[in-house]
Amino acid sequence: MSPMAASERSIIHVDMDAFYASVEQLDRPELRGRPVIVGGLGPRGVVSTCSYEARPYGVRSAMPTAQARRLCPDGVYLVPRIERYSEASAIVFEVFHEVTPQVEGLSLDEAFLDVTASLKLLGTVESIGRRIKRSILERTGLVASVGMGPNKLVAKLASEMSKPDGFLRIRGGEARTKLAPLPVGRLWTVGKVTEQTLHRIGIHTIGELAACDPSRLTRALGRQAPVLQALARGEDSRAVESERAEQSIGSEHTFDTDVADRNLAEAWLLKQCERVAARVRARNLRGATVTVKLREPPFTTYTRQASLAAPSASASEIFEVARRLLGAWWQTQPKPRLRLLGVSLSGFDRLPQEDMFVEGARGAATDQVQDRINLRFGNGSLVRAGSLRTREPE
Ligand SMILES: [Mg+2]
Repeated sequence: MSPMAASERSIIHVDMDAFYASVEQLDRPELRGRPVIVGGLGPRGVVSTCSYEARPYGVRSAMPTAQARRLCPDGVYLVPRIERYSEASAIVFEVFHEVTPQVEGLSLDEAFLDVTASLKLLGTVESIGRRIKRSILERTGLVASVGMGPNKLVAKLASEMSKPDGFLRIRGGEARTKLAPLPVGRLWTVGKVTEQTLHRIGIHTIGELAACDPSRLTRALGRQAPVLQALARGEDSRAVESERAEQSIGSEHTFDTDVADRNLAEAWLLKQCERVAARVRARNLRGATVTVKLREPPFTTYTRQASLAAPSASASEIFEVARRLLGAWWQTQPKPRLRLLGVSLSGFDRLPQEDMFVEGARGAATDQVQDRINLRFGNGSLVRAGSLRTREPE
């Protein structure tokens, strides 16, 4: 391997095509081939996603739904089913994690993957990209666009340029040429203000930005000039930040002595749920899907998964579902014994601030109090009555 190849990264950007609308068309075959618009349906509603059939009418995401209705009166208008999309998203992210742990999720249906370290084991970046596309289609019935490049900027450009059903690799040497004809506003991080400034000094394409005299650009833009110009040349050193975008937050415990007492198992489960809920809230997230992991001695592992009634970060709500999953498993085992027990939450979205004060706050208020106490005194200083049972001799 030449030193240059060793230093070049292989980044993949995956973006599901018209994700919400595609899930609706998948679940309801009568909607296939029709313009499907998913979004808020109230007077101030906004389009989240629309199917490709709606796009010739001029319907776009982030457009007011009322405007979409005028453009496409015969469209099928649906409210989002985030839980269902989260389920599909969890499978998609499972596929990502099969090729690399370096996954930075941007939303339910979009992520960057750094597969540089996976090439030795899994082959070329194209073969990894194909594998991702194929696995997602096989397991979810949904189509993903896959872009590949030496960095995030170029990988994202590749998926955007080739979608829908996209598959494109742009090599380091080609990036600048591919970017050059595009309007400067398409360059990542260029907002409206910067775009207007660039237009004023006669820069309209990314190519013109790349070729501009650096001191002239600095006079117009200040300190951000060199970074922008590097991006315009297709150079982007930003890392794929996997920790920022955890797709699943979990906690598990391996018992010193196998657990055959269901009450004890439930007490441990509650403790795990509290840990998970605290970590999820600390990131200002809430999750839709609960997964329980159960290992029977010596090495037989089961996972059981179910959705919460609504996305949540509440320990008691997570526990309610996890306990049901544990109970169902317990009843089907002739001689249930656990060596390991774990729980995780996935299918995240951001917790809207106002949600912390309205419905769903039943368990959340207690959870938040506990979070504060745990912060002040270190984890474990306050445990619910149920958790105390775990201190019984095993
Ligand atoms: Mg998408």
